[in-house]
Amino acid sequence: MGASYESGALVACKNVMVAFDAAGECLDATLRCITHAHVDHAARVNEPNTLMSLETYELLRAVGRLKQNAGILEFKKAMNIKSVRVTAINAGHILGSCQYAIECDGSALLFSGDVNVQDTLVTKAAESMNVDFMVLEATYGDPSFVFPDRETTYSKIVKWICECLKNGRIPAFKAYLIGKSQEIIKLVNEYLGIPVVVNDAVAKVCEVYKKFGLDLSYFCKSTAAGKEVLKTGECVYVSNHRADFPIGKRVMWAIATGWALRYRFGFYDAAFPLSSHADFRGLISHVEACMPRKVYTMHGYSKRLAKELERRGFLAMPLESVGRFVPFIYEEKRA
Ligand SMILES: [Zn+2]
Repeated sequence: MGASYESGALVACKNVMVAFDAAGECLDATLRCITHAHVDHAARVNEPNTLMSLETYELLRAVGRLKQNAGILEFKKAMNIKSVRVTAINAGHILGSCQYAIECDGSALLFSGDVNVQDTLVTKAAESMNVDFMVLEATYGDPSFVFPDRETTYSKIVKWICECLKNGRIPAFKAYLIGKSQEIIKLVNEYLGIPVVVNDAVAKVCEVYKKFGLDLSYFCKSTAAGKEVLKTGECVYVSNHRADFPIGKRVMWAIATGWALRYRFGFYDAAFPLSSHADFRGLISHVEACMPRKVYTMHGYSKRLAKELERRGFLAMPLESVGRFVPFIYEEKRA
């Protein structure tokens, strides 16, 4: 994507220009497909002709990022726009996250966005689709990123929470506003059954998750009930900011992120490798499930992942090395 490469990509299909997520310099985009509600993917949601899942729409509204209406695409229901057919399938990353399949002139391209190929307590594994081209995220695209089994990480978190409480400390998690916070809350609800207190921003997002059928139990710190629970000290606190712990109790802070595999989070009392992304093996297995003729990798370890895919017999290259547009129909014509 060269200099115009941002958090997204552009695909030209005959008379339709498709921009994914926050791809820039595309005033003539016929369509802007938003994969999910995380901030780095949602920088241009207030531009014209956006398309997103209903869940993403509600999440973006709840966090105050989306100020206008948007086109809503139901999962697995194809939409025809001029010469292009667009279908959304589950990406398994957060509520409403989708991968987009673009079909044009008999070729199909899948844009993965952020993807997770395993079930979690709050999301179902990403679906796969047989396509010709694939644009795949590479956040953890280095072979060194192999996450422990999710149940193992869940049990380590539960153990740590129990130890904190036994030592008279309140276990607190700094977690991403959308996705990780809800997974931690669900984990405590399911495995421990002790109360969870959250900050206001996390509560707003939880309301959207509940609206779409996820049963979450928590108290908001700004309510009288939330304050009462915090005073007892027998609870777990979840917030997207570390700085806002509401009372003067002794607290232990943890962070849950895939980067805990590689980096020491010295300012935290604990760090758990719990990620909403696929690890290296998951990314490879996703490509194997989709069997594309060519893969373009983006974000993070895009070069390394492309190399590893080539070693496994796939044609692959980092997206940033191919110019402004994802070669799709045009490439086939040139060939
Ligand atoms: Zn994301």
